[in-house]
Amino acid sequence: MAGIYIHVPFCRHKCSYCDFVSFPDKIDYAEAYMACLYKELKMRGEELKDYTFDTVYFGGGTPSYIPPKLILGAMNRIRECFTLTKDAEVTLELNPGTIGENKIKTYKQAGINRFSIGLQTAIDSQLEDLGRIHNARDYVYATKLLSGENFSTDVMLGLKGQTKEDIRKTIELAHACGSKHISMYALTVEDGAPIYTDYLNGELPDSDEVAEFYDYGMGLLKEKGYERYEVSNFALQGYESKHNLNYWKRGEYIGFGVSASSFMRGKRFTNTFSLDEYMKCIISGHYAAVTSEEVSKPIAKFEFLMLGLRTKYGVSAKEYEKQFGSKIGEDFPIAVKKSLQYLESDGDKLKIKDEYLYVQNSILMPFMEEIPEEGKE
Ligand code: SF4
Repeated sequence: MAGIYIHVPFCRHKCSYCDFVSFPDKIDYAEAYMACLYKELKMRGEELKDYTFDTVYFGGGTPSYIPPKLILGAMNRIRECFTLTKDAEVTLELNPGTIGENKIKTYKQAGINRFSIGLQTAIDSQLEDLGRIHNARDYVYATKLLSGENFSTDVMLGLKGQTKEDIRKTIELAHACGSKHISMYALTVEDGAPIYTDYLNGELPDSDEVAEFYDYGMGLLKEKGYERYEVSNFALQGYESKHNLNYWKRGEYIGFGVSASSFMRGKRFTNTFSLDEYMKCIISGHYAAVTSEEVSKPIAKFEFLMLGLRTKYGVSAKEYEKQFGSKIGEDFPIAVKKSLQYLESDGDKLKIKDEYLYVQNSILMPFMEEIPEEGKE
């Protein structure tokens, strides 16, 4: 499996917690930026002509903020330059404060068949605190426009003043509006983001409270038929995100646009985070990657475990052996021993027990510590 990622870095307003590469005051660059992105697609097309891609994902930023004809143009260019499977999953991230009927019409014409909506919370005062440009009513309106479509909803935990009741309202709203998939994740506070002051002032729920919210949210989601298939992702049967599953299976993907990352032919590379530099590189006919590294075998082994163990499917011991020519227990004897109580195995599939999935990061720590020094170089 392989995926295509397109980064659209424009937003109407910078949210108070935002750590993504997004520019709130540069929408005038959208046409020129997308023209560069079309060129980057063409540049890579030739080189990747042997590949067939199963998914396309427009992320950001706010892809639904730019004129929809630019998304249509990108999809036309993708189809010209790459081979997509017939049933390719094509997702677009959408901010409920930026859409209308015509946009949705153009997206469908472009072949977008999955939407990811950033609701975050159904409580308007919390949306305001987050600096979001939409309210709960905008979300309801957006989902009406998407009636019958496959869409996912983002739900955030750990907001200032948030209660279990708020989480219940948010999940119930997403469910009632027809969301097929819910991503429920904790707010992360980066130093430098405006919300960091709230964190320093102790105004945000602490990690124990967030863990309690997570358990509560997970119980509700289960009741409503959403099954957890990855630590932060829940889906009605058959609606798991193929694009993200490819990441967790350590599948290949190619990213386009400012800050986009790629993993192709054993190499990870990332484009510049500067809009100007990205456009200059592409205009002059050069790729805009600023970091590029061949993934060493020991790192690849760790990635295989780290990514796969985030999911309910776990990792296959046979597949590990096939890919790396060694056994998990031979490569990570101490970590396996230390983590035994948190893991379960049916002889092939190795998984983190359901009740420990939320703390998978700490379970994976001993595996990271056991990567041989020479492999880290
Ligand atoms: S909409 Fe997303 S990318 Fe844009 S500012 Fe808010 S959090 Fe950042």
